[in-house]
Amino acid sequence: MRTSQFFLSTLKEAPNEAELPSHKLMLRAGLIKKLGSGLYTWMPLGLRVLRKVEAVVRDEMTKAGALELLMPAIQPAELWQESGRWAVFGPQMLKMKDRHERDFCFGPTHEEVITDIGRSEIKSYKQLPLNFFQIQTKFRDEIRPRFGVMRAREFVMKDAYSFHADLASLQQTYDGMYRAYSNVFSRLGLKFRAVAADTGAIGGDGSHEFHVLADSGEDALAYCPTSDFAANVELAEALAPADSRPAPAEALRDVDTPKQTTCEQVAALLEIPLQRTVKLIALMAEDKLNIVLLRGDHSMNEVKVGKLAGMTDFRFATEEEIRSFFNCPPGFLGPVGVDRSKVRLIADRAVAVMNDFVCGANKPKFHIAGVNWGRDLPEADIVADVRNVVAGDPSPDGKGVLEICRGIEVGHIFQLRTKYSEALSCTFLDAEGQTKPMEMGCYGIGVSRIVGACIEQNFDDKGINFPVAMAPFQVAVVAVGYHRSEAVKAAADKLYAELLAAGIDVLLDDRNERPGVMFADIELIGIPHRITIGDKNLANGDIEYQARRDPAASLVKVEEAAAMMK
Ligand code: ATP
Ligand code: MG
Ligand code: MG
Ligand code: MG
Repeated sequence: MRTSQFFLSTLKEAPNEAELPSHKLMLRAGLIKKLGSGLYTWMPLGLRVLRKVEAVVRDEMTKAGALELLMPAIQPAELWQESGRWAVFGPQMLKMKDRHERDFCFGPTHEEVITDIGRSEIKSYKQLPLNFFQIQTKFRDEIRPRFGVMRAREFVMKDAYSFHADLASLQQTYDGMYRAYSNVFSRLGLKFRAVAADTGAIGGDGSHEFHVLADSGEDALAYCPTSDFAANVELAEALAPADSRPAPAEALRDVDTPKQTTCEQVAALLEIPLQRTVKLIALMAEDKLNIVLLRGDHSMNEVKVGKLAGMTDFRFATEEEIRSFFNCPPGFLGPVGVDRSKVRLIADRAVAVMNDFVCGANKPKFHIAGVNWGRDLPEADIVADVRNVVAGDPSPDGKGVLEICRGIEVGHIFQLRTKYSEALSCTFLDAEGQTKPMEMGCYGIGVSRIVGACIEQNFDDKGINFPVAMAPFQVAVVAVGYHRSEAVKAAADKLYAELLAAGIDVLLDDRNERPGVMFADIELIGIPHRITIGDKNLANGDIEYQARRDPAASLVKVEEAAAMMK
């Protein structure tokens, strides 16, 4: 591709609303363009990146024996009524009616549709096992879409669903998917961790999440450096010895009882100088700062939140106050039906505020200590919780102490067992002629989220630093003086043709721009290799080569350039 025929639209500054580096950089590099809340266009440059992720995912799925199909994005309500999820899925599901007043939804996931395919297409154990996958657009009406494509409303997911005659077969495919996922994330050059996840109502031990490791991640992960134990904090908490958790009634006891606390007590509580506390409280009085501390039981059904509110007191806020503060609808903090992602938002906000205002530059950073939330602790201990006391807790497998890190969920695999096959009568005849519900698994990858998550791990002050496997182009040939130097033009065209012939994804920057502008763009959009052709070096038979991660360029003989890139 030549830049003169392509569409680069880079920005010097990111729009204000972008919080995370990845979101800012994706907008600045012109990978995506916002249409509305949680809705993004993948611009030509960004689409190249997305397609590269898709290609790796597709390749690994195919190698693992899954078969690609493509299901409709719009799904009839009847299937969801059959599974019972029409009524319970909640406001994330976008519902609509057609001209005949029939109900539909834009699919947030496809268990119902695939189970319908399974029940009509699969009759005998001889056809099993089967694993189908698609790469397709999902819609979830997220309560707070943010971080660009990482928590979008419309996003691209790879979702696979498998059918089996028995649990052993499901386990085998599940293990294969686990390996395929590990291959995908390794090939994409991501630092990731697989953690055990809660299977909730389904039970059993068949669920894992794959997380790209990043401090900005929305999820907290508990892992043990001296054993294999790794779980998301909800599961780690659930696995903690039962006697470390209070009975629910007790845990709820003082939620509605505001407690008054003086500045001195706040200072003691946060272990910071009184002076600083007074400043904090002054900031709060000006409405510039709110601090929230929280704890809850392992399922987070009962959450206690303390709020350093405006004015001059520290106290536990009432449920009503918390609701109005965070704009939460009724039910949010009720004993049932808590939306975990909202608790996370509060936690994230507390952490950010603590880090910025309380810790200062030299002190350790706060983390939310999910594993400890189950205990009915005095205030000082809650603060200690927030100060990452989880590091040091024994782990659930008895083989060491837990550490906490943060991650971005990019994949999730799940043994569904017979939840959907029973609800939708998806049965088969076994070898003895008996009718049985099929065992099922489901396996999701956030294809579009991966792009943002990757950038969270790979950027610097110049821009994005894509791993080769995801970069929109592998090599940029920057031709300085393409429009005025015959020698540069000839050398650049020749190298470009050679690289194309070798199957290398190359961008020839043939714009009539200053070199600084060209370099800045190529660095911003994250092309891993740059070759610069200019009159001066060319006179000695040289070109300049610089990897995106190299501090400086080095000279290479012009005739060796193409071979070097192969
Ligand atoms: P999260 O906990 O981040 O809301 P989830 O657990 O609801 O994700 P799953 O139902 O497990 O998501 O879907 C499979 C994958 O789809 C997730 O692992 C994630 O990578 C991706 N995904 C889910 N929601 C979004 C979203 N709003 N935007 C982009 N990707 C998403
Ligand atoms: Mg979700
Ligand atoms: Mg999740
Ligand atoms: Mg998930």
